[in-house]
Amino acid sequence: MADSEFEVSKPDAEWQRALTPEQFRVLRQHGTERPGASPLNAEKRAGQFFCAACETALFDSSTKYESGSGWPSFYAPLEGAVGTTEDRSLGMRRVEVHCARCGGHLGHVFPDGPRPTGERYCMNGAALTFKPA
Ligand SMILES: [Zn+2]
Repeated sequence: MADSEFEVSKPDAEWQRALTPEQFRVLRQHGTERPGASPLNAEKRAGQFFCAACETALFDSSTKYESGSGWPSFYAPLEGAVGTTEDRSLGMRRVEVHCARCGGHLGHVFPDGPRPTGERYCMNGAALTFKPA
């Protein structure tokens, strides 16, 4: 997955300047934040969640739910907002979720979510910003 596949592409040094260390670790280095670490876990207002790197709208608050995982969870992304790749790290087969515009790592999607999709988009709050409606 080369960065050049994405509409927004910057060298690491530039992302590093633009992002906080935790945002950079998650978005650009496939890091995972500590469960319960993000204030966005408790965010219940109506609004949208944006990519912290390129400010693309990724999720609507209407699809957010409390999964109990300690990470902000959604049952569906906005149309075309994210892409997925297979992730075989840590000896597991998981589906990695990234921003479709900049390729920033967001989290993983699991097939144990609620209706209507049955999917659980388990996101790092550090990869997201929230704007109330
Ligand atoms: Zn992005």
